[in-house]
Amino acid sequence: MKGRRVARPRAEQHVRLEPQEVHCQSCGEWMPVAYHAHRKILTIKGLVQLRLVVRRCPNPACQAYKHPYRPEEEGLWALPHGECGLDLIALVGRLRYREQRSAPEIQRILQERGLRVCERTVEHLMHRYEELVTLHLSCQQ
Ligand SMILES: [Zn+2]
Repeated sequence: MKGRRVARPRAEQHVRLEPQEVHCQSCGEWMPVAYHAHRKILTIKGLVQLRLVVRRCPNPACQAYKHPYRPEEEGLWALPHGECGLDLIALVGRLRYREQRSAPEIQRILQERGLRVCERTVEHLMHRYEELVTLHLSCQQ
């Protein structure tokens, strides 16, 4: 039993993100807060509950009228509609392609970090990583 630690699921964290920009990029009008959006993201530090402040242009004459303006930082956390953090995708990609780990091994490593993931999620993350690498390579051409 030497050196063996039992991983406990980490406590859920709450993070609030706000748009840096409070004026409409089209007309310059100050945008009031319209609503809050919520997203759950699984990161390498555990599950994070994002609370996103969304603003909207109030000017009916503007082409961006009522167009939602979400926090800029949101894109650094996860892909649109994704439930897994980019940091987690990067970790899985490194384990798979640099360290040649199999999906069950990666699952075990993540579980040792206290992240509750099933093997299907690990495979999903491996595919997301491949897509991002492909996208990155095609952008460089
Ligand atoms: Zn506007």
